[in-house]
Amino acid sequence: MPIYKAPLEDVRFVLDEIVGAGKLAELPGYEDATPDLIAQVLEEGAKLCEEVLFPLNQSGDGEGCTFENGVVRTPKGFKEAYATYIEAGWQGLSCDPAYGGQGLPKLVNTMLEEFICSANLSFGMYPGLSLGAYNALSTYGSEALKQRFLGRLVDGTWAGTMCLTEPHCGTDLGLIRTRAVPQEDGSHRITGTKIFISAGEHDLTENILHLVLARLPDAPAGTRGISLFLVPKFLPKEDGSVGPRNGVACGSIEHKMGIKASATCVMNFEDATGWLVGEPHKGMRAMFVMMNAARLAVGIQGLGVAEVSYQNAVAYARERLQGRSLKGTAHPDKPADPIIVHPDVRRNLLTARAYTEGARALGALVGYKLDVAEKHADEKTRREADEFVQLMTPIVKALFTDIGFESANIAVQVHGGHGFIWETGVEQYVRDARICQIYEGTNGIQALDLVGRKLPQDMGRLLRRFFHPVGAEIEADMETEELAEFVLPLAKAFAKLQQATAIIAQKGMKDPEEAGAAATDYLRLFGLVALGWMWLRMVKAAQAKRTAGEGNAAFLEAKIRTARFYMAKLLPQTNALFITIMAGSKPLMEMDEAAF
Ligand SMILES: Cc1cc2nc3c(=O)[nH]c(=O)nc-3n(C[C@H](O)[C@H](O)[C@H](O)COP(=O)(O)OP(=O)(O)OC[C@H]3O[C@@H](n4cnc5c(N)ncnc54)[C@H](O)[C@@H]3O)c2cc1C
Repeated sequence: MPIYKAPLEDVRFVLDEIVGAGKLAELPGYEDATPDLIAQVLEEGAKLCEEVLFPLNQSGDGEGCTFENGVVRTPKGFKEAYATYIEAGWQGLSCDPAYGGQGLPKLVNTMLEEFICSANLSFGMYPGLSLGAYNALSTYGSEALKQRFLGRLVDGTWAGTMCLTEPHCGTDLGLIRTRAVPQEDGSHRITGTKIFISAGEHDLTENILHLVLARLPDAPAGTRGISLFLVPKFLPKEDGSVGPRNGVACGSIEHKMGIKASATCVMNFEDATGWLVGEPHKGMRAMFVMMNAARLAVGIQGLGVAEVSYQNAVAYARERLQGRSLKGTAHPDKPADPIIVHPDVRRNLLTARAYTEGARALGALVGYKLDVAEKHADEKTRREADEFVQLMTPIVKALFTDIGFESANIAVQVHGGHGFIWETGVEQYVRDARICQIYEGTNGIQALDLVGRKLPQDMGRLLRRFFHPVGAEIEADMETEELAEFVLPLAKAFAKLQQATAIIAQKGMKDPEEAGAAATDYLRLFGLVALGWMWLRMVKAAQAKRTAGEGNAAFLEAKIRTARFYMAKLLPQTNALFITIMAGSKPLMEMDEAAF
């Protein structure tokens, strides 16, 4: 049976040392979000995840969702778990108090999302999509739409979806065919078919609000002609209660590789009543609000799977007895040593651990900057934080989901043949984690976003939000002797990143295929350096606390040793990535299409 314990101690460390203890409470509107309050909230959230959501993860995978006569049923226990979730107010944790939310920082919700995704990724899809709909509606919806719908998304009695994909159009949303025809009363009639819609239909809530991309009759071709509409499953009555059925129905659900307890639906819209969200033809802008938040959230899904995979790999490596330590018998009282003594098993475990803890730190920093971008009193600070978030969004999405998949694979490997067996529980993590690399823009598309949009934006202004603080920190720590083994490898990798950036920018201007060919390797290189930066910060904090005799000595020592592993064994991948980037586009593009 798989196990899971929320990593509360590490979260607290990251909040105190990477974000800064008390920093969130300094932001206007978040005065109540003190370290102690956040710790209490996360402890309660951890209990919910460990005791309510996690026990349904494997059974939900085994049972899956069912579809009968247009009705979708989630697996046994999901309805009750969702009721527990919303009754305790978790859905509105970071939502505006004006609509019934608790108004806590987004970062607190991000931390909770990690626990949810470790415990039960499929379950997390339902509240996650609703939060995405809340974000888009609260940013771009008219006052009337907000008053009518936001409260129900916040209390979780109604859910949300995000309807972009159509059978012929996934990555290229410019191909969307769903139509919206304006009506005299200001509403629109929506007609079209959307596929792969997560939470498109289910039995958890009394109503579902679909955010749908569609074209108005006078729409220009391509993404410039897409508008966003809110289309409820049931039209609300004047008093806000659920009214008649709207012209939207689920045609079928997908049978798929993973996240089997998350309903992935074909949704048919036929003259469905909907309301415009934001301006006509500017739907992509509104959708991007939802997609950017969702991209960060998908990154956190990857982190969640990485953590639970690591925990299960370690638990198994401690108890599985095979062979003897290469140095001789380590546990003479046992018929063989636990596999955790073997260097190769340790390589696996430490790889998962170093990626996971590094990603948690980076995710927390990005989550904090998201709060700063929204709440800080100073306009310049807000703008700079927003630029940092924009730059890091594709990295968090792609790197963290790759890490999630790699760690899940590691957990299977550490379990040997038992890992391949369903009952053991870890092969589910591989299947579940795989979709995170695909939806919300595939990881290849994230890499293109990084090199094609974020890198050249405003002559590299976004890049400076990363390069300046990292460069300054490396320089400041360069002379500190006890940091040498950490800062020197980071300085080398950072130099490679700077060099690669300049070369890609230069070559990409002349030939966009050069940038396209480098994109995925560049994103990984960037991501590894970003995690290296986090490890430098964490090691400094751990060393300082150790010297001061504060904190849990074993925890701090393990931090320092994991940092050493990261710098010595994982960060050097940046050298190979740099060489691959330098090889350019020719090895990819010289092959004739017909020769494949
Ligand atoms: C379980 C599940 C849940 C989903 N949930 C939702 C949801 O809630 N709402 C929703 O709207 N959609 C959802 N999706 C759809 C998902 O977002 C798309 O599958 C994804 O965006 C990729 O689109 P596609 O499948 O059409 O692949 P394609 O766009 O056909 O891409 C195929 C391959 O080509 C590559 N490619 C495509 N274009 C380019 C390019 N220009 N440059 C380089 N490479 C390129 C891609 O990276 C990919 O590897 C879901 C999908 C699944 C499987």
